[in-house]
Amino acid sequence: MKTVCDFCKTEYNMSARAGSTVRCAICGNTWTVAAPARRNTFLMFFASLCALLSAIIFVVAVIVTNRPDPRKQEPLYASVTGHQVVTTADGVRQLVVTGTIQNQTDDIYGVPDLEIILRDATGRIISRQKFMPSATLLDAGASSEFRHVLSAPVTSDIKSIDVRLLTNGGAKK
Ligand SMILES: [Zn+2]
Repeated sequence: MKTVCDFCKTEYNMSARAGSTVRCAICGNTWTVAAPARRNTFLMFFASLCALLSAIIFVVAVIVTNRPDPRKQEPLYASVTGHQVVTTADGVRQLVVTGTIQNQTDDIYGVPDLEIILRDATGRIISRQKFMPSATLLDAGASSEFRHVLSAPVTSDIKSIDVRLLTNGGAKK
């Protein structure tokens, strides 16, 4: 380790242990070899905090990029495949929504109620309607079509139509 004469500032590279007394060969001054400087605890704390924060940010980024696709996650997956506006004999315009329910598992699943959600351009929900699909059970890997006539009047501000399963049908073995 390095020690410095505190009188004439001559540097010595020597194997003196901390606490031992050294006499300077130049000026004859004696001094006690100091222990190696301890690292600043605040800086140490700050550095570990930074490391922790970057680790958390990294983990969050990994979770966000690996967010599971709901299609792969849920046993049943419902999606809207089409819609059309029909006019009844009474002149009432109705919205007919068609879609599929897919059983993505190797088990037979009971099909729960479905809900159709209509949203405007800003994503605000205009209407949500619950209905029971005709299929009550879906075989492993099977899919079923649904067709639902909405009771809400058709308005021009409907910009998106989504369907969701209201509960997870329990597997029936
Ligand atoms: Zn000296």
